[in-house]
Amino acid sequence: MDFELSNEQQDIVMAAKEFAEGEFQERAEEFDRDESFDEAIFQKAAELGFVGVFIKEEYGGPGMGSFDASLIMEEFNVVDPGIAITIGTSAFGAEVIEEFGTEEQKKKYLPPLVTGDAIMATALTEPDAGSDLAAARTSAVMEGDEYVINGSKIFISNGIRANNVLCFVQTDPDNDDRHKRHSMIMMETDRSGFEATPLKGKMGIRASETAELSFNNVRVPCSNLVGDQGNGFAQSTYLFNHNRIGAAAQAVGIARAALEESIRYVKKRIVFGAPLATFQSTQFKIADMFTWIKAGRNLYYEAAWKIDQGIIDHKLIAAAKSFCGQMAVKCADMALQMHGGYGYYSDYKVQRLYRDAKITEIYEGTTEIEKLIMARNLLK
Ligand SMILES: Cc1cc2nc3c(=O)[nH]c(=O)nc-3n(C[C@H](O)[C@H](O)[C@H](O)COP(=O)(O)OP(=O)(O)OC[C@H]3O[C@@H](n4cnc5c(N)ncnc54)[C@H](O)[C@@H]3O)c2cc1C
Repeated sequence: MDFELSNEQQDIVMAAKEFAEGEFQERAEEFDRDESFDEAIFQKAAELGFVGVFIKEEYGGPGMGSFDASLIMEEFNVVDPGIAITIGTSAFGAEVIEEFGTEEQKKKYLPPLVTGDAIMATALTEPDAGSDLAAARTSAVMEGDEYVINGSKIFISNGIRANNVLCFVQTDPDNDDRHKRHSMIMMETDRSGFEATPLKGKMGIRASETAELSFNNVRVPCSNLVGDQGNGFAQSTYLFNHNRIGAAAQAVGIARAALEESIRYVKKRIVFGAPLATFQSTQFKIADMFTWIKAGRNLYYEAAWKIDQGIIDHKLIAAAKSFCGQMAVKCADMALQMHGGYGYYSDYKVQRLYRDAKITEIYEGTTEIEKLIMARNLLK
């Protein structure tokens, strides 16, 4: 067993860190305040090979494994989670095309994602179906050689920017098995009857745009079906298993930033005549944060490494996602507490981290859902 990153992996980390520090840092506060983003940063990320990193070489990507892709995610998030996730989700769902799509679909959809010429979103969640995804009711009814889609989706990352949306739709409502009622269908966003409305007012990751999507008799060719009809739930599980590692890496990045900010602050803040860092209660917080970050990183490293060996360990992936999410929230909370009143203001990065951290407990499966997955696997 080797706990060191390879030279190549260290280079990936350095490149990601340099890019994020050079491009994110200065704009992070502005994007957070205005809920905005500058596409020039995304274009630069694409030029440097940071977009669609897992897409295989034959479709124009670098074909990175889960482990290496997570290293980028962690570094980006140390600098700014909002910008990190905007770039990180620009090819959201491409894994499903790569694994289940036809050769024609792969050639059509994947290369433009790597070059930054197209953006892809994945629409699973509905107003009445989030954790219980099998309850999703957006329908796709076959008429001749087309599917007609009706319904709505909510909280969809990159829903406005996207050129293509991978839609989780109900195609087989009468199937006795509720996990075989859905399919994944690619939909180009310029199709008639489709509308995306921005959802403003997010607590954190405010550089990342989210939207509500509505489908009113949207017609797509049957050739846009990805994989087999009725296999949508299994495909969404495949996607979650990959993306939960990314969410765990994101959480570790946020926690690292919280620790870095805290160390810097407690060394210079004088209370009762001495630096805050000299008080034992501060030292315990710093030591706990360091330990939890290490524990979280080891969890997601192992889960990612296993995926790269072809082993999908559901309980380990769920453990990494739930532990890292809770850990990030706790670390951001402690960092803000150590900053006292100053931390409560937007002048200090810890306020943003506190707001950004919470999403890692919500998307890609809430903490509770991850625990249910673990328990189901442990108790079966
Ligand atoms: C910023 C943001 C970006 C997002 N991006 C996307 C995206 O790109 N694509 C997409 O499809 N979705 C996206 N989502 C949606 C996200 O995945 C869902 O919000 C999440 O899965 C939770 O679903 P829900 O909001 O419907 O909450 P609910 O499912 O209603 O859950 C509410 C609460 O109940 C708990 N709960 C639910 N079921 C159980 C149970 N059986 N036992 C115990 N507790 C339970 C949950 O843990 C949670 O605490 C995004 C959400 C946000 C906020």
